[in-house]
Amino acid sequence: MDLLSREFEHESLTLFEDPESGMRGCVAIHSTALGPAMGGLRLSRYEGISVAAVDALRLSRAMSLKNSAAGLDLGGGKAVLIDDGEWTGELREARMRAVGVRIGRLGGAYVTAEDVGTNPGDMEAIATQTPYVAGRPPSSGGRGDPSPATAETVFAAIVSAVDVGLGRADLEGVRVGVEGVGHVGAALVRLLREAGAVVEVCDLDAERAERVAAEWGAAAVSRERFAERELDVFAPCALGGAVTEPVIKGMRCRVIAGAANNQLADQSLAAVLAQAGILYVPDFVANCGGIIHVGAEPLGFGDAEVRARIEAAGERTRELLREAAEQRRTPLELALALAEARLRRRVTAPEPA
Ligand code: NAD
Repeated sequence: MDLLSREFEHESLTLFEDPESGMRGCVAIHSTALGPAMGGLRLSRYEGISVAAVDALRLSRAMSLKNSAAGLDLGGGKAVLIDDGEWTGELREARMRAVGVRIGRLGGAYVTAEDVGTNPGDMEAIATQTPYVAGRPPSSGGRGDPSPATAETVFAAIVSAVDVGLGRADLEGVRVGVEGVGHVGAALVRLLREAGAVVEVCDLDAERAERVAAEWGAAAVSRERFAERELDVFAPCALGGAVTEPVIKGMRCRVIAGAANNQLADQSLAAVLAQAGILYVPDFVANCGGIIHVGAEPLGFGDAEVRARIEAAGERTRELLREAAEQRRTPLELALALAEARLRRRVTAPEPA
């Protein structure tokens, strides 16, 4: 596999291997132009290190764009670990410590945090070996779970998109479908219901969907063709790739805004959505709350600064959507251009230390 094809323009790719514990993985640093590269540590079932490395390269680039779009002085990086089914108990802890040693050797170029498959306890184990880790539990001095902050910026993105796309000043009576009611989705349902939206939810775990729906006065429905239901807003909060061309053909919603990363099966679908009259808030714009929350640790933001930045996200989204409409570009195209321009400016004219 040609790992370093032209598609990738990264600063480094470092393999992690600890023969003693059996830990295997890697960290990709896409860019440190804006600051230390930050992005979560993913534990997933990869078919070998090459596949894992390609994922790390792809995800680290996405982190550069997400951090840049959020206006954070953080670069983009991502670490991935190969799940061989043995990441449990003491062995898991030993492996996480080994990860911490490897991250420490990078000297602060990369700062890790939780991601799919990892948790605050893992961050604790890593923190025994290196300071370059965020998202530990508050009892250990970290900022803890970023999900409520992510839900807040997704909610603000929905409010902005409903305003710009539907011309409605609030969410009273607006029909929103939340796909996936885990950490972020459940918190989003609460915010939506408090704002008077009519909410439908679904989840792979039907019991969870029922529980969340009952708690917040939403309706739990089947996962089948959920995105094609009679909705104003579709909020994908499960896994990536929920929006495909056949799904778009059946969609009746006017807005898509959610937490999941890589919602579009293919970026070219942004134009297909625009043609279908569906306003798509780019995922990395809508879900920036989480990185603001954990990024605050290496950046040294206090609570007031974190709050101000999370609250500013909705207005930034509104401006993006308006500007994209004026320029007759898709919001994704404009958001990528703005994030890339900020990165390029910093590469060509670094700010004094
Ligand atoms: P989570 O694992 O807590 O919740 C995901 C939920 O989706 C689970 O309840 C799961 O059962 C459900 N699900 C999985 N596949 C599904 C499917 N096909 N249809 C319906 N439901 C399905 O994850 P989370 O932390 O809530 O994150 C949700 C998404 O947002 C993920 O894609 C994540 O990468 C992204 N994200 C999360 C954060 C954060 O702060 N947690 C930040 C940025 C992006």
